[in-house]
Amino acid sequence: MAKIESTMIGPKLPDQVEQESQAKAVDEVTDGQSDLEKKHISRLTETEDFVQFRENLRKLGQKTNAGLDGTETLRFIVQLCETLLTKSGNVEFEEITIVEQSLSIAFCLILSDLQLLQNAVLSQDIKLLKPDSTLKLDGYSDLVSFFMAGLLSKRNALFVKYFNNSFTILMRESDSRDVQNILLKCILEHILKGDISSRSISKYIELGCSLLESICAEDKDEKILLGKQDINTIINLETLFFKILDILLEPKSAEKEDGTEDDELIIGYFKILEKVLNIEPKIKQELSRRKERRYIERVLKECLFNMNQEPEAGFEHSIKCTNVSTRAATYDLLVELTKENIDNSFDLLENGLIDLCNNLPNISSWRYTPFKDKKSPQGFLGIFNMSSICYINSMLQQFYMTPAFRYLILAAEDAQEANIVEDKDGRKVDDNNFHQLQKMFAYLDKSERRDYHPIDFCYSFKDYSGNPVNVTVQQDTQEFLNIFFDKVENALKPTPYRNILNDVYGGKTISVIECSSCGHLRTNEAIFYNVSLEVKNLKNIHEGFEKFITEDLISDFKCENCKQKCDVMKRTLIKDCPNVMIVHLQRIVFDLDMLMNVKVNSRYEFPQAINLKPYTYAHYQQTTLQKEPIPQEGKEAEATETEPEGVKAEVEPKPAVMAEDDFAYTLAGVLVHRGSAEAGHYYSYINVNRKDPRRPKK
Ligand SMILES: [Zn+2]
Repeated sequence: MAKIESTMIGPKLPDQVEQESQAKAVDEVTDGQSDLEKKHISRLTETEDFVQFRENLRKLGQKTNAGLDGTETLRFIVQLCETLLTKSGNVEFEEITIVEQSLSIAFCLILSDLQLLQNAVLSQDIKLLKPDSTLKLDGYSDLVSFFMAGLLSKRNALFVKYFNNSFTILMRESDSRDVQNILLKCILEHILKGDISSRSISKYIELGCSLLESICAEDKDEKILLGKQDINTIINLETLFFKILDILLEPKSAEKEDGTEDDELIIGYFKILEKVLNIEPKIKQELSRRKERRYIERVLKECLFNMNQEPEAGFEHSIKCTNVSTRAATYDLLVELTKENIDNSFDLLENGLIDLCNNLPNISSWRYTPFKDKKSPQGFLGIFNMSSICYINSMLQQFYMTPAFRYLILAAEDAQEANIVEDKDGRKVDDNNFHQLQKMFAYLDKSERRDYHPIDFCYSFKDYSGNPVNVTVQQDTQEFLNIFFDKVENALKPTPYRNILNDVYGGKTISVIECSSCGHLRTNEAIFYNVSLEVKNLKNIHEGFEKFITEDLISDFKCENCKQKCDVMKRTLIKDCPNVMIVHLQRIVFDLDMLMNVKVNSRYEFPQAINLKPYTYAHYQQTTLQKEPIPQEGKEAEATETEPEGVKAEVEPKPAVMAEDDFAYTLAGVLVHRGSAEAGHYYSYINVNRKDPRRPKK
């Protein structure tokens, strides 16, 4: 097949497959061929003219090359890329293209003239970088320094990728043992340098791994001139091995600034250790001689299984390898370390596996999979549903996911000692609901487990008659919200943190009553923590707000100004917008025909973003009253309704004067009730892509 393809030019013909199946026929033209077949063959064979044309092109190329000063051109390209590598600021699309094309040209140049490549790698006299270049590496030529800088570039991942590819090709195609030697030495030496948490270093290690692999492979690439025996002359593998192992076991590598980059680094290090052991198995013996460093035990206990952890001692998990791929790399290394080495095997058994067996958790369920006990890959925890407390859990998750509220609650102090009591099962519980809330938020933030068990929270959450939550009874979530806010407010009232709730969720409504007799305006302000909107017979949240601000008729109202009894119109408007607005949708209503609660399940639309200006007092003043602001008679009240479903939105903290943007909200989360007025299930949707300084970046 290959032979035929080499004589084909131009696009594939539709009947080519058939043609290929008659492979032999092409070379040995037989009498049996039809005219059609002959026609095809003539189409698929290079004509003499074409062969001549190709030859001319080749000669032209050689001439062009001959007139080109290789070193000069290479210097131009290197300095062009150098400018882009050392620049700061965002990378433009053009810059990426420039680097890609420059490297391609540099390739064509040095691979068509291998002497140029060898000189540029081996001789430090060939100056390619700018005279005062910061990229220059001691002991290496400008070309090698240039490639190292590209591999370590933090400007753009694509830069690193292009340099990585170029480096591998240069190494392979250099046709020189000396060049390969220098390139490999530079890579291996630099694995131990540089900023440990950068993405580029892990790319670097990956490259080191693949180079070691290609040098030591069973069926080695014939263009790789280095052999296993050469590596120890380039770098001391034992030193490399123990340096990397020490880096891996340093406490700092457990810190996670960016989970994925960190993991790549750990995997790269473990893989290179494994490769080094493959090349130099006697390092295993050296490892068992350095017993006092407890390497094997530490790899097992620091990277895989934390056996010293007290359950309550702190939620900061110190295990370095928490996901499938990093753990797999660690297991591979342990296997390699113990393979054909009885000392290390015994060490692993005595100082690791026996402890591990003694510390295995008590498993009480069938089909135990530890993986399922971990928090979600996105870094979030659930709250365990003890029976029917979804109305609590779904609401608390919304509160937890309001960053301002979460961090203020965690920062607050209620100045109360723990109130330790025994519950009916004899468990000791701090019977202080605010403490329990803080504990829950702390666990939701820090724990590695799948969920938090709210048993203590439920015990300390007493209803108006002092009874703990009955976890088997489904309640209304808005009722929970009101009791919960009461509790938070009461806990913090005597402390400097008393305004937390108001700062995050608090807003003000104002009701305006105009006397139809004398025109006197009476206003009344009220603080609210949620706005309750009608759903029945309405299409969307805008209609809900319209209904909310619509005038109501009050009969026989006695005006305080003219002392007349008359019919008046009363309207309620939003005066101060809260930073985070909780909107309650009245889906459960009392049906006067049936004399029972029923659920309104009709469609009710709400947008991702909403501007509440049309429903505010400011807007009303501008459009309707067009008067000076009215002197107010403040009086607090609360807006509470029954509630099956809520919508929550948030804005940035407001300045003193409300700008247009301060009425703009984006949807933060939705709490859904599914079911009927009597029974159902609550759950939450939460937009996690909001500004939250401490959530892991994705
Ligand atoms: Zn009046």
